[in-house]
Amino acid sequence: MYKTIIVPVKCSKEDYLYLLNCNVLSAQVWNLCLKIDKEYREQNNGDWIDRNKLQKLTKKCVHLHAKGIHHVVHKYLFARDATRRAKEEGRKDVLYPYKQKKYFVTGWDYQSVKIEGNKILLAKPMTKEKINGKFRKQKPVVCYVKNIPDNIVEIELIYRNKLYLAIKYKDKTQYKQIKSNNCAAIDLGEIHSITSIDSRGNAVIITGRKLRSIKYLRNKHQAEIYRRMSKCKRGSRQYLKYMNALRNLTYKTERRINDAVHKITKLYLDFCIENNISIVYYGDLDSATRNTKQDKKGNEFVRQKLSQWNFGEIIKQLENKLTRYGVKLIKVKEYYTSSKCPNCGRINKPKSRNYSCECGYKQHRDLVGAINILNDNVNTSIKYYKNKKYLRIA
Ligand SMILES: [Zn+2]
Repeated sequence: MYKTIIVPVKCSKEDYLYLLNCNVLSAQVWNLCLKIDKEYREQNNGDWIDRNKLQKLTKKCVHLHAKGIHHVVHKYLFARDATRRAKEEGRKDVLYPYKQKKYFVTGWDYQSVKIEGNKILLAKPMTKEKINGKFRKQKPVVCYVKNIPDNIVEIELIYRNKLYLAIKYKDKTQYKQIKSNNCAAIDLGEIHSITSIDSRGNAVIITGRKLRSIKYLRNKHQAEIYRRMSKCKRGSRQYLKYMNALRNLTYKTERRINDAVHKITKLYLDFCIENNISIVYYGDLDSATRNTKQDKKGNEFVRQKLSQWNFGEIIKQLENKLTRYGVKLIKVKEYYTSSKCPNCGRINKPKSRNYSCECGYKQHRDLVGAINILNDNVNTSIKYYKNKKYLRIA
């Protein structure tokens, strides 16, 4: 199980400048990968270059530690091959890497990292020139980090208007594995991030109010910056300052959303542990049956993208947490799950947050979705919950 922590870079000014330049050099490696791959394909009837050849051709192309160059090559090949797979699956909206980059993350693997107390030492390349007839080792970059995790796998240098280290490490904690025949189903939503019910009738609703308020605040601030930007000259100093503020806002929002998703998924994990749930089903979000409501006020495209991003992130983090405890997360197709009546099977379009049917059945709308997903995939015929918890994050 891998985990990542992100810490700001604390080091000498000289080292900081060196690190800043690392991401420029990494970008040059990326651009070189693009060029080599393209030329190779043209000369070899559309054949793709493999890892070994690309690694050979990029060796020592910039003055960066060898593992750092490898890191970019790996990332490039990963992106390229993922695109190829997606294209083979029939996706048409994906593009092969083509953009020239100015900055790119730099990586150090465990072999090029050393730990000394509260210091992380990041390897530098050998000297550029020979000293007394030999290339010499350079002193590593020294970064101060308070709590350095054990079993570091890789460190990446990322830039969010400031340099940060993303430290990836192996988490060797033994988690208690949940073993039971209890299953649950999840309905993901905008208003309630997670609504779920298990086959014993325990239900939970976790609101997404926090997520919405983060987005609302972001939009408000963004609008204000745009308003001010429109009053000054494009490219002027003030204009660039606002651009910087916009980027900062994006990073900040990203962090806050991540944090909120983290807390939401933790609450759900607790629910699974408490009720001994070993399998969780969730509806396929790509399925056409999900009705995307038109938002007259906002930009439909942006709105959808944002919420989808959240769903994806929630699922990703859920999977992360649940698998630690041996809980399976399974994606299933949704068929009218939000409109079918669990009692009589009629299809009704719920008009408000409450679902009601001619047969007299009444239920919380999101719970109907979860109940249907559960009944469709597990041999249950649940209609009502036994107990319901309503949770929110601070
Ligand atoms: Zn009914």
